[in-house]
Amino acid sequence: MSLIVAKFGGSSLADANQFRKVAKIVKENPDRRYIVPSAPGKRFDGDIKVTDLLYNAYELASEGDDFLPVLETIEQRFDSIIADLGLNIDLKPEYEKIRIALESDAGRDYAASRGEYLSGIILAELIGYHFMDAAKCIRFNETGSFNSDFTFEKTAEHLSHYERAVIPGFYGRMPNGTIKTFSRGGSDITGSLVTRAVCADLYENWTDVDGFLVSDPRIIKNAKIIKKITYKELRELSYMGATVLHEDAIFPVHQAGIPINIRNTNNPSAPGTMIVSEYKVDETTPIITGLAGKKGFSIINIEKAMMNSEIGFGKKVLSVLEREGLCFEHLPSGIDTMSVVIESKAIEGKKEDLVYTIKRETLADSVSFEDDLALIAVVGVGMRKVTGTAAKVLTAISKKKYSYA
Ligand code: ASP
Repeated sequence: MSLIVAKFGGSSLADANQFRKVAKIVKENPDRRYIVPSAPGKRFDGDIKVTDLLYNAYELASEGDDFLPVLETIEQRFDSIIADLGLNIDLKPEYEKIRIALESDAGRDYAASRGEYLSGIILAELIGYHFMDAAKCIRFNETGSFNSDFTFEKTAEHLSHYERAVIPGFYGRMPNGTIKTFSRGGSDITGSLVTRAVCADLYENWTDVDGFLVSDPRIIKNAKIIKKITYKELRELSYMGATVLHEDAIFPVHQAGIPINIRNTNNPSAPGTMIVSEYKVDETTPIITGLAGKKGFSIINIEKAMMNSEIGFGKKVLSVLEREGLCFEHLPSGIDTMSVVIESKAIEGKKEDLVYTIKRETLADSVSFEDDLALIAVVGVGMRKVTGTAAKVLTAISKKKYSYA
């Protein structure tokens, strides 16, 4: 028997029907022992996520305005799920605690976390699993940074007493007892931390898509699903804007070499996308795993005769960027040229200063800018085995009459 941690996102738990689908998925595989739910998400276009309602209730309460109607909307949402599922639980005492906490300013993060908390209580009851409050084991340091040692140790210890449990996503506890959340979409991180803590064999992340797409579906119609992708490939694609998973969720499981399987709650028979540390490249491996692109970049072109033989030239350029607090994306270079690819908005209003400072510190012959650039990432471990991929990519770009750098 292996051990699976399964995280279900907000769309997977948006209403009673979605809860039923989740229960069916959990029951189908007894290895799914630790379940991490999000708060109910949108049921239809224009609907409001429970987390957003909670933020709204908090803002109203902190301004001294009437937050009770918003709290009532949230209560009705949970109560209708409970009634529809025919469960015998009464969350009124919990609602009362939330009301009192909002009146006494228990904090924005506390308010936001209650969506996952209540969702977890309902799901645990529905599937007959133990409910474990994440505040018991997910811990932050005084500075607000995540405390991995405490979290891994306590989560493993607490869960060792329960063969099956539901642990709400998105939040943990500060040393002083207050609740703190991860950034938005952070239930993915909780799922990843629980996976790592219990040394699970697999982290399933259930959402509302069949997996990662090879390319952006708004640009390429009928883009295919990526069946398998390495963490490194995924990192490159998500850096370019392709997102399904919270970025910080990747690190804990990647470090432990545990695979992630992205699955679709609304289409559970689809195998989804498997994210792995590495895999053997063979003839079935696609040449390109994925394509992504991002606009809004500039290049600083620095030219100096005999640059290639000048020791420390690059360091001088990078020191200027460091002092200006600028991070760069790429550093293509030639014999007498060095180029720095940088996000255009980071250097807005700073260009003249940069030209002056780089020239002064490097004694470059010329420093110039090019704007309106896009970066395209063509990612794939399969490319190593075949020749001509770069030629095909550049030909496609030329055919569209774009220039490339
Ligand atoms: N409910 C939180 C959010 O809407 C966290 C999550 O869903 O992962 O951001």
